[in-house]
Amino acid sequence: MSTPVYNFGAGPAMLPIPVMEKIRDELLDYNGMGVSVIEISHRSEEFEAILARCDTLVREIAHLPDNYRILYTHGGARMLFSAIPMNLLPLKPAQMAVYSETGNFSRQANVEARRYGDIRVASSGEANNYDRLPPFTRDMVPDEASYAYITSNNTIYGTQYKEYPDMGDIPLVVDATSDMLSRPIDFTRVDLMFASLQKNLGPSGLAAVLIHEDLIGHAMPNTPSLLDFKVYNDSHSLSNTNNTFAIYVMCLVMEWLKDQGGVEAMAKINEDKANLLYDLIDASDFYSGSAHIADRSLMNVIFNLPNEELTAQFLKEALENGLYALKGHRAVGGIRASIYNAMPVAGCETLAGFMREFERTNG
Ligand SMILES: *Cc1c(COP(=O)(O)O)cnc(C)c1O
Repeated sequence: MSTPVYNFGAGPAMLPIPVMEKIRDELLDYNGMGVSVIEISHRSEEFEAILARCDTLVREIAHLPDNYRILYTHGGARMLFSAIPMNLLPLKPAQMAVYSETGNFSRQANVEARRYGDIRVASSGEANNYDRLPPFTRDMVPDEASYAYITSNNTIYGTQYKEYPDMGDIPLVVDATSDMLSRPIDFTRVDLMFASLQKNLGPSGLAAVLIHEDLIGHAMPNTPSLLDFKVYNDSHSLSNTNNTFAIYVMCLVMEWLKDQGGVEAMAKINEDKANLLYDLIDASDFYSGSAHIADRSLMNVIFNLPNEELTAQFLKEALENGLYALKGHRAVGGIRASIYNAMPVAGCETLAGFMREFERTNG
């Protein structure tokens, strides 16, 4: 192979190399069966063992309390934008929920939820183009709300909650698609956390849901059964043929994460990785970070160059140097380096070295 390529894509994102090597090595013959894991029944003993192993690892790594369940749901995060209101709005008679709007994904989530009940946006970062997190506190949520909703890490705008709001008696729902298991989770504050897999956990198309058992079993009568959390819970997420391959890959990613020292060790590595880039940006007059420092993300580092020509040249030369998929989202432009769990420290060091050199020759 030529020089290593580091993939900074926002999602689907890179997977750990050891995970992909394991997939390659056992693709045609899983566990001595002579057949592939892709082609065995979701009801087979072998697949059930993979599912159970994945549960055990998630429970252990996340320190998931006993009264929380793990569901593997179809349709990625977007499908949950519908499933969450359908399952949770009936928790209280007002069928009302309160959202904090911190980027496009929380906007999509509250727009989708409005089909099913009274959805209020208590705080929005739109006026500042979502460059910071607006305050969202218990006193902004009426007592009759069924749940409060936040997005943990805003993938496009590069902001991230350092600490989740304390919503007290109101269940807090967290879209953690771009940072689940990148750091410890405070389950005293979170009642439902979900993530589609393609950023930190595995391939696209499937989502993992960590949910307090009291939130299961309240779905609206017209909820499709494949969106009903109780159907997933009662069938161990196998009421129909689930995405077995995605669950298998997620299980391998969990093995890898455990080997890294779990979320505690990973949080430290992620902080070091992000600081390699933020320290450089903060010290530079050439690069400018786009998110407010207090709220900026350890997962998606977003910055700008002095003008569009330099941005285009940066992207071109970065690619020639094995730094792939750094183009910012069209809503913000500039550069976005997505540095999820699987991005090695060496990838951030290589990017930082390239940025220094680019500034030296073009600054
Ligand atoms: C990527 C992303 C999504 C979209 O996930 P899909 O699996 O494409 O539905 C939702 N929320 C956040 C925070 C994301 O980063």
